[in-house]
Amino acid sequence: MRIRVLGSSGSEVPGHNLPAFLIDDEILMDAGTIGLSLTNDQQWKINYILISHSHLDHIKGIPFLLDNIVIRNKKHDITVMSGKDVLSDLKKNVMNDRIWPDFTKIPNKKNPVLKFKAINPNRSVNINGYKVLCEKVTHSVPAYGYIVVGKNGKAVAYTGDTGPTDLFWKKVNGIDLCCLIIEVSFPNRQSKLAIASGHLTASLLKKELKKLETLPSKVYITHAKPQFMKDIKKEVKELGMNNIEILQDNKIITV
Ligand SMILES: [Zn+2]
Ligand SMILES: [Zn+2]
Repeated sequence: MRIRVLGSSGSEVPGHNLPAFLIDDEILMDAGTIGLSLTNDQQWKINYILISHSHLDHIKGIPFLLDNIVIRNKKHDITVMSGKDVLSDLKKNVMNDRIWPDFTKIPNKKNPVLKFKAINPNRSVNINGYKVLCEKVTHSVPAYGYIVVGKNGKAVAYTGDTGPTDLFWKKVNGIDLCCLIIEVSFPNRQSKLAIASGHLTASLLKKELKKLETLPSKVYITHAKPQFMKDIKKEVKELGMNNIEILQDNKIITV
């Protein structure tokens, strides 16, 4: 399984794209960045988008992707998947014919370019041969972490945005993980703000990793605020783990 990091930043400044992880060119985990990183042909290959939650930094690429597809006027559709509550927020507040057109009716209701499919944390789903599981994490709005098991049987977990959490780790603990992509948004001195807003610091991350029965061979950090990058880098280094790395945009993770 090959994961291309289209973006891994906690906010948008030049050279730092919002979170999006492209699995084998066809499944996207979060969609903060699409059109800024992928050519039209590469965008065309995406079939499924797994959304962690409805915050703009994780969905920003979707409206423009749909627009790019419709403009080409060929038959192609995108299925956006997440928990029912997240999809309902997207329908109500974004694809509502006000902020952006309702692409579930475009070009027509019968063959729309956008489809929504809810995922239930109690059941795994099969997407083109990938096994996908989701579970609730702790954020300021309904949010889910994902576990994707590739066609080669290798499993990757992605937390999306989360503060200290439990259910997700229970699910992860039953699975032999190759790598974990987890957020660290703030420096340690802002742990109060991190917890209040449903995010992690390096020292909160350490406590989260203790909830894992087995540490995956690689832990990747995403969602660091570029403004705090220097401090976060230092504090992650001070954790003294040698299997941890702060992600950079365009990195390719192979498992
Ligand atoms: Zn968020
Ligand atoms: Zn975010």
